[in-house]
Amino acid sequence: MELYQNRMVVKVGSSTLTDETGRSDIQSFERVARILSGLQDRGIEVILVSSGAVAAGLGLLDKASSSASPHRRQAAAAVGQREILRLYDRFFSKYGKTIGQILLKDEDFLLEERRKNLLRTFEELLELGVIPVVNENDSVGSDGPQSEKRLFDNNDMLAALTAVLCRAKRLAILSDVDGLYDCDPRRNSNAELIVKIDRVSDELFRMAGGAGTRCGTGGMK
Ligand code: GLU
Repeated sequence: MELYQNRMVVKVGSSTLTDETGRSDIQSFERVARILSGLQDRGIEVILVSSGAVAAGLGLLDKASSSASPHRRQAAAAVGQREILRLYDRFFSKYGKTIGQILLKDEDFLLEERRKNLLRTFEELLELGVIPVVNENDSVGSDGPQSEKRLFDNNDMLAALTAVLCRAKRLAILSDVDGLYDCDPRRNSNAELIVKIDRVSDELFRMAGGAGTRCGTGGMK
């Protein structure tokens, strides 16, 4: 499969975009917009996959500290998705950029016709110089994270699927952890960064552990 050398998918996690109280971290949105705008100015076609809808929604509704039911999270996503797009729009337009929102579910990748249409939409947006901002369509729900049928249940996977669909040469996952360490760097100051991986093994998966923070779902894994 031939890849587009100048095409890049960048994924940003909830823990990067939200502060400890569950409020949107305005400076992070500004930084993401500045960096991605800079990449586009250098001729790179960028696609942003952004989490943060549920966390921002819960924060706005003042429910950040409570454990939220799946339906409340779906409702919070409806509020939070609007908020994160508002912030991205504010900062990207400062750099003269136009963004477009794409919300996706498994079927959009699984069903041939939808997949083709989705790809055409991405191609068209990129050709127009628009920066697509992608997230899972959280508000419509799912069969639950345990379901075998699910193609993705987190945005790291969604970003990977988007990168493959769009044949992007690079996928960058911006997180609160620098990469895969041989053990949890938050707990062990001797943890070593594994710079290159040739083959993903069960042992590597075990090393990656689970999500690191309250807001995040991906972590090293
Ligand atoms: N789609 C979720 C959100 O916007 C985040 C899922 C994830 O981070 O993996 O809140």
